[in-house]
Amino acid sequence: MTGCHVMAKPASSRCNLNCRYCFYLDKPEQPQMDDATLEAYVIQHIAAQPGDDVQFAWQGGEPTLCGIDFFRRVVALQQRYACGKRIHNAFQTNGILLNDKWCHFFRDNDWLVGISLDGPAEMHDMYRINRQGNPTHDKVIAAIERLVKYQVSFNLLTVVNQKNSQQPEQMYRYLRTLGTPFLQFIPLVERDNPDSVTDRQWGEFLKAVFDLWVREDIGRVFVQLFDSTLGVWSGHPSQMCSLAERCGHAFALEANGDLYQCDHYVDPQYLLGNIHQTPLSALNHSNAAHEFGENKLTTLTDECRQCTVRRLCNGDCPKHRLNGKSVLCAGYRDFFRYSAPYMRVMCDLINHHRSPVELMSLLQQSR
Ligand code: SF4
Ligand code: SF4
Repeated sequence: MTGCHVMAKPASSRCNLNCRYCFYLDKPEQPQMDDATLEAYVIQHIAAQPGDDVQFAWQGGEPTLCGIDFFRRVVALQQRYACGKRIHNAFQTNGILLNDKWCHFFRDNDWLVGISLDGPAEMHDMYRINRQGNPTHDKVIAAIERLVKYQVSFNLLTVVNQKNSQQPEQMYRYLRTLGTPFLQFIPLVERDNPDSVTDRQWGEFLKAVFDLWVREDIGRVFVQLFDSTLGVWSGHPSQMCSLAERCGHAFALEANGDLYQCDHYVDPQYLLGNIHQTPLSALNHSNAAHEFGENKLTTLTDECRQCTVRRLCNGDCPKHRLNGKSVLCAGYRDFFRYSAPYMRVMCDLINHHRSPVELMSLLQQSR
């Protein structure tokens, strides 16, 4: 039995911000997830996972709009239906509504919080604005300070766009001061959106951040793409679906129980079914879900099949492909080639039961 990831959207596409690049705001809005759907989902998601650990991921829209009592019910239902399995929760938020109560809740229940932050104020506020068009950086920083105060585990998720991609050092140095070592960079790729990052900018951004990280922060800061790439060098599958060989089994659950193939494909033709009619595990094992995952591999271009960094990139997310090829291709190729010698050394160190952290002193000695 294959497990699955589900991004649950209990607030549907409702959000209290109006980020200029958001692809979810124009989705049809639905009422908040009701109790029957929530209960069905909790039961089915636990049953659909073969292992002892079950991950729940809550996002939106903006999930805090459901109110804290909704998530207290989540915890109660998870406890009731856990069947001895260990339950983990991740909660992705823009941070605007996080107050002391929310932080207590996250800490007491050991939830991992993801905060969306696109860098210092001048970068963040260019895109992440509220419904009145006002900046939001100050509020997000206040939320981060609260999370630190309450010792909540959190990570930062940064959308890399046309503008902030051009200041990688300033961005990285800033993010690493905010109280969490866990950073994720997501490229903004939207068709016909001039704010999207270009392939060249993406490659230059990653190389510049990597240059700093490899000299100053191995073992101290955890950049998802770098960790995942090192994992692939060490023989593990990619932690990131966009760079894995196959995709799929990473669904999006809408508030009414509709299950879609992926968060990036919440469109009628990618609707797998509704969990009130078909259990999640059956949808997960359906031909349609299987084919969607395989499609990433079977549609790979000849160029990708012969590419020297294919095992690290795998042709990128299908959503980023135009005429079969990723619009970020040149950037990924550039980054994976650039980082290869360093990855090779870290991999060798790991294979000899040494720490990859030693690479930093090796680089210092060679200066
Ligand atoms: S379509 Fe992209 S985001 Fe969705 S599962 Fe596949 S690789 Fe991941
Ligand atoms: S770098 Fe380009 S050619 Fe190589 S696998 Fe990735 S998308 Fe394909």
